[in-house]
Amino acid sequence: MDTPTVDSPVEPDISHTNPASQETWFGHPRQLARLFTTEAMERFGYYGMRALLTLYLAQHFLFSDTTTTGLYGGFTALVYLTPLIGGLMADRFLGAKRSVKFGAILMSLGYLTLCFGGQPAKPFATIDGVRSEITNQGTGEARKQFVAGADGQPLQIKGNDDKSVSLLRADGSEARRIADGGFKPDGERNPTSVFLLLIGLALVVIGNGFFKPNISTIVGSLYAQGDRRRDAGFTIFYMGINLGSLFSQILCPLLAVGMGSWGGLGWWAGFALAAVGMLISWLLIQFDGGKLDGFGDRPADAPTNRDFVIYIGAVLAIPVVWFLFTNLMSYVRPAAGSGMIGYFMTLPIMGKIMFGTFLISVPGILIWSYIKGTKQEFQMMLAAMVLITFNTVFWTLFEQAGSSLTLFADRNTDLSVFGLFSISAGQTQFFNAAFIVLLAPLFSIMWNGMARRGIEPTIPIKFAIALMGVGAGFLFLVWGASFAGPDFKVGLWWIAGLYFVHSAAELCISPVGLSMITKLSIARIVGLMMGVWFLSIAVAQYVAGLVAQVASVETVGGQVTNLKVSLDTYVGVFTTIGWVAVAIGVVLFVLAWPLKRLMHGVK
Ligand code: GLN
Repeated sequence: MDTPTVDSPVEPDISHTNPASQETWFGHPRQLARLFTTEAMERFGYYGMRALLTLYLAQHFLFSDTTTTGLYGGFTALVYLTPLIGGLMADRFLGAKRSVKFGAILMSLGYLTLCFGGQPAKPFATIDGVRSEITNQGTGEARKQFVAGADGQPLQIKGNDDKSVSLLRADGSEARRIADGGFKPDGERNPTSVFLLLIGLALVVIGNGFFKPNISTIVGSLYAQGDRRRDAGFTIFYMGINLGSLFSQILCPLLAVGMGSWGGLGWWAGFALAAVGMLISWLLIQFDGGKLDGFGDRPADAPTNRDFVIYIGAVLAIPVVWFLFTNLMSYVRPAAGSGMIGYFMTLPIMGKIMFGTFLISVPGILIWSYIKGTKQEFQMMLAAMVLITFNTVFWTLFEQAGSSLTLFADRNTDLSVFGLFSISAGQTQFFNAAFIVLLAPLFSIMWNGMARRGIEPTIPIKFAIALMGVGAGFLFLVWGASFAGPDFKVGLWWIAGLYFVHSAAELCISPVGLSMITKLSIARIVGLMMGVWFLSIAVAQYVAGLVAQVASVETVGGQVTNLKVSLDTYVGVFTTIGWVAVAIGVVLFVLAWPLKRLMHGVK
């Protein structure tokens, strides 16, 4: 043994720990930095695509609002459903890191596929059973649309307040009036482009299942059981999510549709940027320089010979998802009055999968915990399931962002920023991410400060605040709509205000919910419970699609025919869902006390 001297004191023996693992990043394990950038770039891709998708479906493919929002809802529902399977595959076979890498490749290919949308669909209308081509004059807001009259003269299409459609001669006089329902606008779409669209979306759905749950699992694995930095770690990670989203929600729409007088490069360019972001995410995790060694590895007892089967299975799932999309799009809503069972039976296959899985798994897991668990475990699981159910209501409203709120921004919002320049409708989605990045640290400080004083709200109270908040956000926008001018447009700041309230609400439920699941769940089934949490968000996405469908308005060539009708429709739907959410929030507020007792001290 060396004798210590003044010049060379004996170093303590640290050979049993990896010195690199002791380095920290903002006081957190340094691996968090790499997971932060990987997830930021993945969300850059996802939210960049999300900022484009609804408008792409409505304006490039000329799908009706009902098809657009229905497909958007079905797509996002599957995006949140596949993590159930992706999480399971990682736990049992692949390990989290390998799953994330595979998911990243699939998603990159998905965004790339979305670039191949081909030529825009050709607008036409069926007028009382007769097909007429639609021609355009002018661009943007000033765009006018015409059909050929009997004498070949162009007649301008004008939607009336009573939902009838007038065809106007050049002098403004009415040549013909078609009653509500007699004028059916549509678009002639290239079948190959539609096929590639659905394949692209299917790749994203499947890729996300491998990526999203497992990157969060790796974050969780950086912290030992009981490490108090865990919640803060997830907050930092949540900021990474939103930092990535923030930039792409500005840049992808910018490339796709431009800004001001610049018309952009085309939709393909926006999706290409999303694909580049996703590719960077893949590079960051694939070539991590050993930074993530020892984390997210294959479970020690997992067989190693199944990987190929899983990869093939994932590829074979692409046509299955494609089929679910086409089934959803060909769905015709049956006449009302068939009752709950009748309604369920006529749902598209995807709807049956969503509701069916939720309605079976929630009571099923509860019965299992009643039989297998102690009384306390059962009560905690019951509390978790009640909160998971309320979680569905939150995301149903919140996720209007990608569909009805973006369409509202496109149609009934004055997108001018202080009269200096105008943003595009898709770019309004960036408000949410920006507010999360600003508010997340403040909320973290606030919860900690309240906890020190012993006045931090309980989890059910936070959920109740979130529900009332998401409703209040809509009511705020509805209030703003009462100031709309004769152009039926609402100022941009009302939408920004809605997103401010929604973001604060999100911070009361989303990060809180994830950690709640890990604390309330019976340990053996925590992975499954995390899956049920994602499932509740999946159901919400599907219902969000149905809600957005109620807010559908008639469009010709992707443009609404009457701005007053569209404003009234949005205000009607937003008012209803706003009050319903506030009321459900109040119910949860009352239930918070019995729930607190069921939770046995979990905070
Ligand atoms: N914005 C967050 C994310 O994309 C949360 C979304 C959600 O859980 N519904 O990860």
